[in-house]
Amino acid sequence: MTRKLYYEDTYLKEARAKIVDIKENALLLDQTIFYPTGGGQPHDEGTINGVKVLDVYKDEEGDVWHVVEDPSKFKVGEEVELKIDWEYRYKLMRIHSSMHLMDHVLNEVLGKGTWELYGSGMSVEKGRYDIVYPENLNKFKEQMIELFNRLVDEGGEMKIWWEGEKRMTQIRDFEVLPCGGTHVRDINEIGHIKKLKRSSIGKGKQRLEIWLED
Ligand SMILES: [Zn+2]
Repeated sequence: MTRKLYYEDTYLKEARAKIVDIKENALLLDQTIFYPTGGGQPHDEGTINGVKVLDVYKDEEGDVWHVVEDPSKFKVGEEVELKIDWEYRYKLMRIHSSMHLMDHVLNEVLGKGTWELYGSGMSVEKGRYDIVYPENLNKFKEQMIELFNRLVDEGGEMKIWWEGEKRMTQIRDFEVLPCGGTHVRDINEIGHIKKLKRSSIGKGKQRLEIWLED
C-alpha cells in the first residue's frame, strides 16, 4: 500500500518517491504527498518531475494513483520529485477544518441533537454544509459567525489519531469526528468567515455555504 506522507505530515510540500507501477496514464508510487479525492475533499494539484498531475485517486487496496499529463516521461523503478500546489492545498486544509469547526458551532448555537448533517463538500473557494433543521437558519447566522470567529481567535489544536482503520479528529475538547482529510494544526489558521450563505434545498434541508477571509 502507498505510504501516505500527507497523513504523517500534512504540511509537506515536496518529497521524493519511487515509481512502483504504471497503468496507462497513472503512476503508482511507494509514497506520496498527493491527497487523493475523498471524504468530500478534492485531490491535490501539483507536479511529478515537473509533469502536471491531472487526477489523484485511491483504489480499493488503498493504493494512491497519480494521473499525469505525459506518462511517457516515466518508467517503473525511477526516483521522482513530487511537488504539490501548496497554496491550493493549504486553502483546502483551512476550508476543510472550517467545516469541523462549523459542526461545533451548530451544536452550540442550535443545540446538540436538534439538527442533522445531510451532506457536505468543499472546493478551494468555499465549504458546503447541508443540514436538516426545522427553522430558517438565517436568524442564527450572526450568532454563528460571531462564535466561529471568536473560536478562531482563541485558537486550539486540531488533534488527529487512529482507532484501527478509522482516523479521528478533534478540535480542542469539542466533538470527535471521524475524517480522512487534511486539516490545519491549529484552528487559528482557518481565519474568519468572510461570508455565510443559507439557502433552502427543499424538504426541510438547508445549505450553509462558507467563504473564508484570505
Ligand atoms: Zn476533516
